[in-house]
Amino acid sequence: MVSEALNKNRLRIAIQKSGRLTDDTEALFKNCGIKITESRDHLLAHAENLPIDILRVRDDDIPGLVMDHVVDLGIVGENVLEETTMQRAVDGLATSYRRLMTLNFGDCRLAVAIPQEKEWHGLKDLEGLKIATTYPFLLKRKLTELGIAFKPVLLTGSVEVAPRAGLADAICDLVCTGATLHANGLKEVETIFESKAVLIARDQELYPEKQALLDLIIPRLKGVLAARESKYIMMNAPKDKLKEITAILPGAENPSIIELEGSPDRVAMHVVSREKVFWETMEELKRLGASSILVVPIEKMLD
Ligand code: ATP
Ligand code: ZN
Repeated sequence: MVSEALNKNRLRIAIQKSGRLTDDTEALFKNCGIKITESRDHLLAHAENLPIDILRVRDDDIPGLVMDHVVDLGIVGENVLEETTMQRAVDGLATSYRRLMTLNFGDCRLAVAIPQEKEWHGLKDLEGLKIATTYPFLLKRKLTELGIAFKPVLLTGSVEVAPRAGLADAICDLVCTGATLHANGLKEVETIFESKAVLIARDQELYPEKQALLDLIIPRLKGVLAARESKYIMMNAPKDKLKEITAILPGAENPSIIELEGSPDRVAMHVVSREKVFWETMEELKRLGASSILVVPIEKMLD
């Protein structure tokens, strides 16, 4: 057991031990300057350079660990967070937490899929059917809103084989690409819930040392998330087209303009764009007379 003294000073963060959120979560920490040395086999890892402990667990356990105040922070998919919250409410367990920020990974959707040969007219078609799912509460919340009754078949894995195996008429499962559904003779017909990974915190005041640490890392996390989409753009441009050029750069702030020695009509322009820059945008810049266009990734950003 970790002593109470350690608990007071060290921020504890629960993350998925191994799964679809793990690589992105670890990359995020790394980019925030949180160095974790221990291997994934260790339940508890310590950051080298900051008083942070990382608890590696199954994603399903993360909301409960935060709600029971065992850890200070957790990173988990909204799908698991919402489902677990509803389950815990029914079980009479604590359900409060604070949502600190939405992260830019773990995107997926909870969707209904039915056998490919079946017709589909809408969620009403599910009335009275057996639906296999790992997310009975999310499914029930949606269908109850619409007054549709169904029979949940609870499966924690291999949900997509349930119809073929004769266990259910339809499924409600997480999808990203839909390839697994197709391979099992199913077609996706309706989205029930859209999910991303989120950072959550326990809803209690933290010890001042921990709060100070959180106040340090939150701007770093925001900076990393903002930087991922942002680009630094450099180009040479005709002076009389600067307005048009700035207008087509997504989310660009005031550009820096630098005179070019020996060319009175053209300037060098440096600008940070807050969004992705596509080839189409670069081609449009070229049409406006820009040349030597460079789009450079930004690693970190602090406003
Ligand atoms: P654990 O062993 O931790 O319980 P798991 O098998 O329940 O792992 P994963 O498949 O690793 O979970 O998915 C973890 C989370 O990643 C999901 O709950 C969801 O929020 C997100 N996710 C992102 N893309 C997908 C996808 N294509 N399929 C399933 N989950 C996805
Ligand atoms: Zn899980």
